[in-house]
Amino acid sequence: MDAHALKAALVCRVCDLPLLNPTTLPCGHTVCSIHPRVPCPRPQCSPHSGPSRPRIPPDSRVNYLPPPPPAPAPPPQQLPPKPDVTISKIIALLDRVNNHSTHSPTVRTRPDTAPSPPDRPFKRQRLYQVDDDDGDGDLLDHLRASAARQRETAPYAPLLTPEQPSLEKELLSELSCEICFMLLYNPVTTPCQHSFCAKCLHRSLDHSPLCPLCRDELPGFSFFEDHPCNETLETLLVTAFPDMYIERGEALAIEERDARLDTPIFVCTLIFPGHPTALHFFEPRYRLMLRRCLEQPIPAFGMVMPARQASGTGVQAAQTDYGTMLEVRSVQMLADGRSMVETWSTFRFRILERGTLDGYTVGRIEPIEDIPDSPALPPAPSNTELMDICTGFLNQLRRGTAPWVVQRLNNVYGPPPADPAAFSYWVALVLPIDDYEKAKLLPIRSARLRLRLVVHWIEQLNNNWWFTSGCVIF
Ligand SMILES: [Zn+2]
Ligand SMILES: [Zn+2]
Ligand SMILES: [Zn+2]
Ligand SMILES: [Zn+2]
Repeated sequence: MDAHALKAALVCRVCDLPLLNPTTLPCGHTVCSIHPRVPCPRPQCSPHSGPSRPRIPPDSRVNYLPPPPPAPAPPPQQLPPKPDVTISKIIALLDRVNNHSTHSPTVRTRPDTAPSPPDRPFKRQRLYQVDDDDGDGDLLDHLRASAARQRETAPYAPLLTPEQPSLEKELLSELSCEICFMLLYNPVTTPCQHSFCAKCLHRSLDHSPLCPLCRDELPGFSFFEDHPCNETLETLLVTAFPDMYIERGEALAIEERDARLDTPIFVCTLIFPGHPTALHFFEPRYRLMLRRCLEQPIPAFGMVMPARQASGTGVQAAQTDYGTMLEVRSVQMLADGRSMVETWSTFRFRILERGTLDGYTVGRIEPIEDIPDSPALPPAPSNTELMDICTGFLNQLRRGTAPWVVQRLNNVYGPPPADPAAFSYWVALVLPIDDYEKAKLLPIRSARLRLRLVVHWIEQLNNNWWFTSGCVIF
């Protein structure tokens, strides 16, 4: 491990001197706390501007709502600023190991010949009263002393050779994420100056708006979406553990790819093909599912009904193996990570295999399509006759006690479709029967057979005293 390279990474992004009481800004730059911090003092640094990446490629078939309002600004940083916890610890670690290794006096003078950074924006003289660093002082004093020693260390001083294994171990520990306990990957630093893998922080925010370490309230989810990484930490990671960092990236890519291999399934309600549905995503597991969906060229997920709670029989369980794919038409992501999603149901499917990924259901599915009617099927009643029976029933409803039901069907789902396949789902929507019964339409591969089942339900309803007497409750 090249300790000199590590030290070189620990310089301020403004003054190019070793970091003094480092603090990391929302732009990902780590600077000495003495610089003004809002906005970032580094020239040409654009301040964090919230989510900018389109959530779905613009050439996909999806239309979008206008982007959400800009993320709320992070709380203004107050004085004294919090030190970047991880970077401060690493500075102290390197300093400690270095002192131990060199047996050097606490203060070393930088040789007069030491070159100044060529493009320093300004020069200043810093005078440090370096006390013996016995741990009595507060953190600021300690860091000042550490930084002073660092900047005064001659570049040729022997660094760390005998303690390399121990340094590596301690450095690995400091550079580990406190959520996944693995090497940090794409480290993001919060305003409370704690650092986590970007993906880990997103997932933590799905569950709570608080920092997982210090419980400080964090800015909303959108503030951390596409958030710049902590540049200094990333350089340290790549310098100290280059192979491990690459492996972490590859493992995460494989994990994400596996997560997308299977079809994500939203277990919620019965949906038939060919209809719009608005959904509210608020459960952490489904928020993660939606984010993964939105990374696809055509974001879509399956929808099935939940298994019935009480006395689930084999028949009822089978209904929940059939569902409908929903294509995402628009997404409105709220600042706290919840989303309003508009979808269009496209095709039916059967779940061949199901599993769980990060708390939500995934499955291997097979689409279900209609097949031509068997010649064995009696020619009568025809599709037209069956549809006429259904229309007659709707007219009966319209004239009866609940005309608004038919009106609602028209308003939400449009006028009755002429196509018998689409008509079979459309008319089923209005029937006052159990959704688990209606779900029996999903596996049927013939429009005529579906219409016959609908007509069967209508006959049953007409034979029931509670329905014909007008006591229907929707
Ligand atoms: Zn500085
Ligand atoms: Zn910056
Ligand atoms: Zn992590
Ligand atoms: Zn924190």
